[in-house]
Amino acid sequence: MRCDDRRIIAVCTSWEDVENLNLMLGRLIEITEGTEFLPLCVAFDRSGVESRGEESLREFMAAFEIPNLAGILLLGEMIRSDEINQHIIQLAQKKQLPVFMLERRYEGCINMAFSYLGGFEQVTRHLVEDHGCTDIVMVAGIKGNSFSEDRIALCRSILEERGKSLPQEKVIYGEYWDEPTYRALDGYFSSGGRIPQAFLCANDAMAIAVSIYLSERNIRVPEQVRVAGFDGILPGENHVPAITTARPDFTFMYSKMLDRMRTWRAEDTGKTEEWPIPYVFIARESCGCVQGNAFLSAKKSGELKINNLLYTRHIRALGNFIRKTLSMSSLDSLSELLSSLFSGWPNPYYFAAVLDEKDRAQAQCVLHGTHGLFASGYRFRWKESPVADVESVLSDPSIRILMLQLLQNEEETMGYLISGMQDLNLREQGRFEEEALFLSAALNAVLGNRRLKAANNAILFMAEHDYMTGLYNRRGFLRELEHTLHLPEMQEKTLTLFAVDMDRLKSINDVYGHQEGDHAIQCLAKALSRVTEGKGICARYGGDEFAFAMMGAESLAPDLENLRSRIEKAAREYCGPKEYLISASIGAYSCPVSRHFSLDQILAEADAALYADKSARRSR
Ligand code: GH3
Ligand code: MG
Repeated sequence: MRCDDRRIIAVCTSWEDVENLNLMLGRLIEITEGTEFLPLCVAFDRSGVESRGEESLREFMAAFEIPNLAGILLLGEMIRSDEINQHIIQLAQKKQLPVFMLERRYEGCINMAFSYLGGFEQVTRHLVEDHGCTDIVMVAGIKGNSFSEDRIALCRSILEERGKSLPQEKVIYGEYWDEPTYRALDGYFSSGGRIPQAFLCANDAMAIAVSIYLSERNIRVPEQVRVAGFDGILPGENHVPAITTARPDFTFMYSKMLDRMRTWRAEDTGKTEEWPIPYVFIARESCGCVQGNAFLSAKKSGELKINNLLYTRHIRALGNFIRKTLSMSSLDSLSELLSSLFSGWPNPYYFAAVLDEKDRAQAQCVLHGTHGLFASGYRFRWKESPVADVESVLSDPSIRILMLQLLQNEEETMGYLISGMQDLNLREQGRFEEEALFLSAALNAVLGNRRLKAANNAILFMAEHDYMTGLYNRRGFLRELEHTLHLPEMQEKTLTLFAVDMDRLKSINDVYGHQEGDHAIQCLAKALSRVTEGKGICARYGGDEFAFAMMGAESLAPDLENLRSRIEKAAREYCGPKEYLISASIGAYSCPVSRHFSLDQILAEADAALYADKSARRSR
């Protein structure tokens, strides 16, 4: 089998119950190893963004555009929205792909249901038949709940097969977690309950709680009392003593899935299949079957210490990264920082993209690295191919799983991060989750800063420009002029300041209306812009008054009549045929830039010249 023939199995889930997710993905990696399949886990973060998370998954279903997709596995317990599940099923069916639905039931899917009761029966029979326990305290889940009551009834009937019973006082309810279990045990012992031969618990979390409760009272498990749990979570395996339990047979489930994908034909689309998934019984220390292994426990705790150290290092690096992004407003700078951060990290493939705010089908790559070599910055259509360079990813045997997480904030999906990983133990999975979380925060800061900067620029523009003509207003004109006059190349030049006032605007207003007056102002503004284009700074000073400044080798004032006729000609062109003429009075004042002067003074001089011009023209 060549790696580049690999086909992708997309696993859709949320970041919830991460230990269980790790167990399930870990098994999937093992089973797909050496086959033509590569798992891709598409996960969203539910914390704090309950509905948002699932919404983003909907947007994200571009995962279906990944070439070589063989099927979809939906972790029904982790995606709660019925609508999103339906949506994904429909998309998959359009592509004639099989949908494997775990622990939920939908028409048109391959529905995989865990056979809880069969699994629980294996644990119960182990205690009763292999260990001869008939004096059992059953630690059940939630009172009245059918899952709970079914397990009690099962335990009772197995005991009754041997002429024994499960009296009501030996049934306590721990509600599937530790605190209620401690309370239930307090209740049991304080009402005269004695230590039985075994505690049979409806899940591992309660079995751990029972074991802790007993050890705090110096009652040894399993020497004095056997304990068994159910469902096979990771903490049960790591507990001392390790908890005897039963776990869904993922090997069976995944092997069957791979076979089904191999035999899948387009005409199977839309048919419903029901697959019961059996449990495997796992005998460990807490029932007395397996001897405690001090060496293994010490080794595990050693590994944990190292993991803890690596965790702190990783978080510190990510914390420093975040600090640097807090004031950043460009995605290019973020890219640069990301490349240098991730280039020292161990996964064979990293990819991150930021969705375009206006065109959601477009994205910018901010991180793209294969085996330590990084490129980024390009834009691409992510909906056509969300995994960059997918062919080389598929043909890289060191990539055994692709993890994809949506980068979200409270309002939106900003982008996504993909990591191609060699292995996925709990720490590696944790690393990925940390990277995605910190990158989300960084992106939130950068995008927020970018928006703020754009908003500030817009406000600044408004504060310095005239709304009607788009020219500078008085404030913008003075700021821009001050700035220009201080440029070194201006020091040799002569500044000529022109003051302009439109002639007889009042009568245009009176005869043709205020709107026509506005139009006349706009035409004069355009004419002034054209005349000063590239050579000066132009402003509407207020009402029908304008000012512009030109910097040249010599004074421009002597050309006043020529300037006026150019302005009026341009204004006529903009205005079109009218019964009135647009004309203006102009005053000018020149001064070498290097000479110290106050702008106010020069403006006053230009104004005075303007009024002289105005009255001369009036009298004409
Ligand atoms: P003159 O030839 O002496 O300059 O007379 P004028 O009619 O142009 O009047 P003046 O410059 O003394 O005053 C400007 C007038 O322009 C006052 C006001 O009625 C009008 N005006 C000011 N701002 C606006 C505007 O934004 N739109 C319009 N339509 N008219 C304006
Ligand atoms: Mg006027």
